[in-house]
Parts: sequence; C-alpha cells; structure tokens
Amino acid sequence: MRRGCISLGEVKCDVCQRTIPYPERYLAVDEENGVEVEKGKTIHYCTQCALERGYAHHKEIKGEMILTFFPESETIEEPDTSQE
Ligand SMILES: [Zn+2]
Repeated sequence: MRRGCISLGEVKCDVCQRTIPYPERYLAVDEENGVEVEKGKTIHYCTQCALERGYAHHKEIKGEMILTFFPESETIEEPDTSQE
C-alpha cells in the first residue's frame, strides 16, 4: 500500500538518493521485488520519482494544479461513465 507523507527533512528518496527536505511531500510504498504489495519493504519516493514511476499525478482542483499520490479512481467520485 502507499502513503503520502510530509518529510521532516530526514527522509531519503530510495530511487535518486536525494534527501527530501522539509516540508516536501514524499510517498512511502510497500513493495516486494518492485511490485506494490500490502506489506513489504517500504520504499520512499520523492515527488519527482513518484511522478516518473506513475505513482503520482497532477490534478487540477479549482484552477490549481496539485499533486496527488493516488490513482484517479480513488480521488474523484466519478459518475458511471462505462461505455463500449
Ligand atoms: Zn527521487
């Protein structure tokens, strides 16, 4: 599972090895062999690496671009638009 967190300045991105400064956001993901799992090794991603990995998305809310760490389906309540 994944958790969006705010760095206190002591977290390092496990991908680019960059120290994530306060108050930047980062993402903690439980992974097993590179695959997201419920419980595994916790990998920390800075926002840039999360974006590259596809774990983060930019979303426009009320005219402002914000970064979200969750899939679209979990952040927006969409009407049923299923179609063939
Ligand atoms: Zn990084």
